[in-house]
Amino acid sequence: MEKIVSLCKRRGFIFQSSEIYGGLNGLWDYGPLGVELKRNLKNYWWRAMVHERDDVVGMDGSILTNRAVWKASGHEDTFSDPMVDCRVCKARLRADQVIEKKGVRQCPNCGSKDLTDSRPFNLMFKTYVGATEDESSLTYLRPETAQSIFTQFKNILEVSRKKLPFGIAQIGKAFRNEINPRNFTFRSREFEQMELEYFCRAEEGMKWLDYWLEERLKFYQNIGISREKLHAREVPENERAFYSKGTHDIEYDFPFGRQELEGVAYRTDYDLSQHQKASGKSLEYFDEETKQKFIPHVVEPSAGVDRTVLALICSAYAEDQAPDEKGKMETRVVLRFHPRMAPIKCAVFPLLRNKEPLVAKAKQIVDLLRSHMSVFYDESGAIGRRYRRQDEIGTPFCVTVDFETFGEKQAQLRDTVTLRERDSMKQERVKISDLLELLLVRIA
Ligand code: ATP
Repeated sequence: MEKIVSLCKRRGFIFQSSEIYGGLNGLWDYGPLGVELKRNLKNYWWRAMVHERDDVVGMDGSILTNRAVWKASGHEDTFSDPMVDCRVCKARLRADQVIEKKGVRQCPNCGSKDLTDSRPFNLMFKTYVGATEDESSLTYLRPETAQSIFTQFKNILEVSRKKLPFGIAQIGKAFRNEINPRNFTFRSREFEQMELEYFCRAEEGMKWLDYWLEERLKFYQNIGISREKLHAREVPENERAFYSKGTHDIEYDFPFGRQELEGVAYRTDYDLSQHQKASGKSLEYFDEETKQKFIPHVVEPSAGVDRTVLALICSAYAEDQAPDEKGKMETRVVLRFHPRMAPIKCAVFPLLRNKEPLVAKAKQIVDLLRSHMSVFYDESGAIGRRYRRQDEIGTPFCVTVDFETFGEKQAQLRDTVTLRERDSMKQERVKISDLLELLLVRIA
């Protein structure tokens, strides 16, 4: 994990937030490559969950909402983790982090047995809307994106004219004042979620729960996470929210252990019923065929952007052997991202930086590709070193313009370039006129 954290910083994927001031625990900034990776993930989720389906529409809700939302949803009263304080080292611990030896509770930091009883700690960040700071202006930063989908259910149903079953998808920031943020970005205090609320009839809830679990497992494989590292865990009844009739956690084998990436939960009609009751506004669905009115049930696949980005980086990280400039084998660090997720799809190099025609041709190729994919131009250092730099950030393809491109020795090689593939390190000669098409197929 240390190697991954250091690569993320060194190459500009993820930095500690406000680092120059000593940082702030549980908060992270994404650098130039991290933001591309994150966007690729969110765009692909949106494509798979919204654009490629007829039964899902999207929305983008506000982060701050009327406090009544959080009262009705139950978050104000119950969105908490049990917390324990160590009286000796003053550590604040999540109750499940306390070690128990021979039935005696111990602090994992200092080993002290002098611990407080556990008490609930609400994870929502408070803030005030407007100029007065009192109870009447109090609200919270949303701890999940789902609630605005429920509160907008009726509006979206009307404008989209969808029939059951149908879903509403949203990607956005969520905030939780985690007692103990840890494992790099895995448990952060500010993060992004990708959530779908899929509304259906009560009798079909369990069917859609199974369906979405399978769809979501396929999604992770389509972004390059191998099935062997993914696990679907059926959450037992005593761990589930009281209103859920079935929940599966999709877990991933991180270097620090098997941990949740996504929850797929059948939430029944709990949320819509709560908001209908609290707001006094009907959130019912009218079935034109049976002429019945009822509150739909909902299945929710809820994924974390940041956790998935971390899983993508962990999955991609590899070290292998590759020849250096003189043919001697050396260790190569490579991020084997699926080309679909890779922050940069293609790097373009002139063989030599001081040969004007090579440079001009390489820049022409950059212009040819730029409007279709993220490209990177590099002319500094030996070619082998430039390949290594791209391997380390997971660029799947590199194009080199050399003297053959001008047909200096073999006329039939005129207007061709070397295309080098990251994982196999194989090089092929391709026509510049075929390059765009060829790359587009491979990164789709
Ligand atoms: P955990 O048990 O790990 O705290 P959770 O069960 O509370 O997670 P959910 O409320 O189901 O999480 O949220 C859905 C998804 O949002 C999670 O699967 C995860 O990917 C993401 N998520 C939740 N909390 C965090 C966090 N503190 N940092 C990063 N991602 C998070």
